[in-house]
Amino acid sequence: MRNIVVLTGAGISAESGIETFRGAGGLWEGHAVEDVATPEAFARDPGLVHQFYNLRRQQLLAGIEPNPAHVALARLEREFDGEVLVVTQNIDDLHERGGSENVIHMHGELLKSRCVSCGEVSECRHDLTVASECPRCHAVGTPRPHVVWFGEIPLRLPEIERALIAADLFIAVGTSGRVYPAAGFVRLARAHEARTIEINLEETGPGGAFQESRRGRAGEILPDLVGSILARDA
Ligand code: NAD
Repeated sequence: MRNIVVLTGAGISAESGIETFRGAGGLWEGHAVEDVATPEAFARDPGLVHQFYNLRRQQLLAGIEPNPAHVALARLEREFDGEVLVVTQNIDDLHERGGSENVIHMHGELLKSRCVSCGEVSECRHDLTVASECPRCHAVGTPRPHVVWFGEIPLRLPEIERALIAADLFIAVGTSGRVYPAAGFVRLARAHEARTIEINLEETGPGGAFQESRRGRAGEILPDLVGSILARDA
């Protein structure tokens, strides 16, 4: 076995204290997604959207820490004698803080902003407002959160697809399997003969997409799974 791809979703960060999205009755921290996570919402009320992401950013920077599931994936990358890629739908930086280096944020990153005028992506650890200035082109009001909203195209998809085609093992952790294209990754990996495992608290769909399903908390299941993959690899 040479190539492992791990897809993570909001469930892997839940044990760190970040609320999942589907878990809360279809609301994300009390908001309907169409009010805060779509290009239309930003066009209609940029102040509200900035405020929503400012709160998420403040929360992330104030005491949220990676949990044993993030740490286990970093150990897998470090100790596995092959390639490990984490593809995350999460916009937090908990994989990086847990020690993972080979990470693709397909839905962007909360700690970055992007200028809608010149396209510059910058580190962003502060609040954004409608009066924020782009550090490169100095336009005012143009920086937006560097996150992929519903209706926008996820980042680095060709690279992700190549990795899925080459994968021997595909693991999905804490993702509801309802947001496409990520929800279709298991089929692509399986079509190219990867073994597929899912870790989730609950049943995620009609079943059958994954060869193996492990029910429970990612922070408890993933360290054991990583241990057994590394033991077999040794
Ligand atoms: P989701 O909220 O739709 O689903 C979360 C899944 O995780 C559920 O199936 C739930 O059963 C499972 N889960 C919850 N706690 C778990 C645990 N401790 N261990 C294992 N599984 C657990 O999340 P999604 O599939 O990632 O899609 C939601 C979208 O919202 C994504 O596009 C993402 O960008 C965004 N989002 C991101 C964050 C974040 O960055 N941390 C948080 C909320 C939403």
